[in-house]
Amino acid sequence: MDYQYDNENIFSKILRREIPNETVLETKHSLSFKDINPVAPNHVLVIPKGPYVNFDHFISEASSDEILDFNSMINDVIKIIGAAPSTDGFGYRIISNAGDHGFQEVPHLHVHIISGRFLGPMVLPEK
Ligand code: 5GP
Repeated sequence: MDYQYDNENIFSKILRREIPNETVLETKHSLSFKDINPVAPNHVLVIPKGPYVNFDHFISEASSDEILDFNSMINDVIKIIGAAPSTDGFGYRIISNAGDHGFQEVPHLHVHIISGRFLGPMVLPEK
């Protein structure tokens, strides 16, 4: 794996408390906070605290504890925002963009959890 992590990316600065965030949950290995530019009534980002660029970097190099913690936090956020269909929520979408084609803007792994309105089809077909 040949990823170079940029310590000056915006989420790295959030983790160092150099810029503020609206925290939803924090654990030893992970942080979740509200997206600054929400696309739905609920839009939460979940990030690992370790220096991972994207999902495949994280899964390839993170410890089992980090991976479990990250996934558990995603599950906890879904419950906190009341989005789980099993608990009367109307559902949600999890997105993690990577690289140029994935249109990743911030080069620190993050999962978007989006809910609170009908989201329509995931990706529109090419015309
Ligand atoms: P990406 O396009 O990389 O998947 O998503 C980056 C996300 O980070 C965007 O949804 C954007 O609104 C969010 N974002 C960018 N800068 C900040 C910030 O300083 N604080 C917060 N809370 N979110 C940010």
